[in-house]
Amino acid sequence: MEPIEPIAPALLDWHRQHGRHDLPWQRERTPYRVWVSEVMLQQTQVATVIGYFERFLARFPDVVALADAPQDEVLHLWAGLGYYARARNLQRAAQQVRDRHEGLFPGDFDSVAALPGVGRSTAGAILALACDQSHPILDGNVRRVLARLFAVPGRSGERAFENQLWELAAALTPREHVAAYTQAMMDLGATLCTRRKPRCAQCPLVARCVAHAQGHPEDYPAPKKPLRRRQRRTWMLIAQRTDGGIWLLQRPARGVWGGLWSPPEFEEQDAACEAARQWAGQGAALRDGEVLQHAFTHFDLAIHPLWVDVDERAHGASAVAESGARGLWYNPAKPASIGLPAPVSLLLHKSPLR
Ligand code: SF4
Repeated sequence: MEPIEPIAPALLDWHRQHGRHDLPWQRERTPYRVWVSEVMLQQTQVATVIGYFERFLARFPDVVALADAPQDEVLHLWAGLGYYARARNLQRAAQQVRDRHEGLFPGDFDSVAALPGVGRSTAGAILALACDQSHPILDGNVRRVLARLFAVPGRSGERAFENQLWELAAALTPREHVAAYTQAMMDLGATLCTRRKPRCAQCPLVARCVAHAQGHPEDYPAPKKPLRRRQRRTWMLIAQRTDGGIWLLQRPARGVWGGLWSPPEFEEQDAACEAARQWAGQGAALRDGEVLQHAFTHFDLAIHPLWVDVDERAHGASAVAESGARGLWYNPAKPASIGLPAPVSLLLHKSPLR
C-alpha cells in the first residue's frame, strides 16, 4: 500500500475539544473495564450500555469476581442487553484469565485475541485504549469512517472490503497517543460520521474525504443485502401457583436466549393446552394472554402466552418438566437473580395475580 498522509494530528485536535471524555469506562481505564465496555458496546448504543456497565462493574469489580460468579447472576445483569452469547463468552474468558493468566488480564495481543468472544478488533481496542499499544481496530463506526474517507466500494462482511479497510486502519494507526486516537475514531463515527446525515461541515477530516467530495457520503459503506426474515411462533405455558410462583425452565446453553430462563415452550397451541391440562386437570381454565412480538436479528418471534393456575403444591415434576432442564418457581413479586429474556420479563410481570 502507498504511504498515506496521517489523519491522527487533525483527529486528535478535534477530539480534545469535541470528543467524549467522561464515559464510565474512561474514568479508570483498566483492560478489564475496557473489555467489558467493548463487549457491551458491540451491538448496543452507548446510552443504553452506561447503566448496564455500572451495575455489572459494581457486582463484578474485577475479572476474578466475574469468573467465580454463578452464571445466573451474570445473565441476570445482562438481561435486556440481548445477544447473550456475549455474556456467556465474557464469563468463559474471565475463567480462562483466572486459570491460565493467574487472574491478570493478559497484555499481549495474541493472548487477548484468543479469549472467547474477543475478535481482532476488540483485542486491538482493549490494548489500545487501556495500554496505549498500537493496534488497529475496525468496529462499525471506524469501518464507516474509513469507507467514506477513502470511498472504498463494497459491503461490510465482504472479504475484499474488509481486507482493504484493515489495511487502511493499520496504516493510519499512529505509534503514539494510540488510546486517544482510537477513542477519537470511535467518537467521530458515533457523533459526526453517522450512518445517516453525516455532519461533514464539522468534520476535521472533511478536506480529504473522498466520499464527501463525491457528494454522497451516505452511499458508503454499501448497505448490507436485506435478509429474508423468517416468522416464528411459540406458545409459552405460564403455570402459576396461588402464591404467585411461575414455573420456569433453564434454556440450553446454546441457541436463542441460551442459559436464560423462560416458561415451557411449545410449537403448537394444542400441545401447550394438552400440557396445561395434564398438569392442572382436564377442567382447568386456560387463558390466552396478549401476543408479544419480538424481533431477533434473523427472524421475528410471536409469543403466545397461555396462562393456567396450578395447585399450590404443584411441583415441576409435571409433563412439561421432563425435558431434563433445570426448573424453578419464579415469583415476580420476589424475583430471583436469574437471567430472563426481556419479553419473558415483560410477560411475567403482567401476571393477573399481581
Ligand atoms: S467528511 Fe463527512 S463523510 Fe467524510 S469522514 Fe467526515 S463526517 Fe464522514
